[in-house]
Amino acid sequence: MTARLVVEEAIRTAAAVIARSRHVAALVGAGLSAESGIPTFRGEDGVWTKFGEPTFDGWELFNHDPKAWWEASLENAAQYSDFARSLDAAMPNAGHYALAEMEQHGHLAHVITQNIDDLHRRAGSRHITEIHGNRYLVRCMTCGGRDRLSTISLARIPPLCHECGGYLKNDTVMFGEPIPEDALRECYRQAAIADLFLVIGTSAVVYPAADFPIMAKRHGAALIEINLDDTALTDIADVVIRAKAGDALPAIVEQLHGRGL
Ligand SMILES: [Zn+2]
Repeated sequence: MTARLVVEEAIRTAAAVIARSRHVAALVGAGLSAESGIPTFRGEDGVWTKFGEPTFDGWELFNHDPKAWWEASLENAAQYSDFARSLDAAMPNAGHYALAEMEQHGHLAHVITQNIDDLHRRAGSRHITEIHGNRYLVRCMTCGGRDRLSTISLARIPPLCHECGGYLKNDTVMFGEPIPEDALRECYRQAAIADLFLVIGTSAVVYPAADFPIMAKRHGAALIEINLDDTALTDIADVVIRAKAGDALPAIVEQLHGRGL
């Protein structure tokens, strides 16, 4: 079979598996954001490859001196890097919209994303866990409550949580910072209850994210991988779609519609 026919066949199989699953969860990585023009961190054209990895002391600085951290962070924001500019200019792509549509039609229960760019929300997804946070939110370091960054007052630095008075920090998870507890708990819950896991645009090497599909598989879930290249999960995936998510996911939605679902 030609590569195109292999992809078409895999999409048909994927739609059939999705149609008979009860609880579908998706793990989404940087590949989906890259299709919206957001540069990846690692890899040939990665931001870190080109400009070096960010400093590892941000989390330590925040714990030691949250005021100094906020001052440095606001100064960075004022410089407005190319990376920040590309994040703000990015729009959801056909893959994001297809996931939102699958959720609206009851074919997808939850999206776990490694991306911080807010594109799932903007595309209309509702049940989302952002394991690395969201760059447009702040999070309370005491109670875990979240707010839009644009709605909080920065008259006082560091800003404080209006619920509990704890320090607020940008929701984006920094190097050395633990994944927020509520997010982690939700991911493990999804891995336990899903009977199908979609793994989309992620090389599945960053832990703990890489663990969730493996855990789900151990609990009897099927795995569908949508990625341009082989990953650590390819060998255990039940269906492998070697295509861009922005092509594959709308094609799956079309198949589901064709079945009257
Ligand atoms: Zn709080």
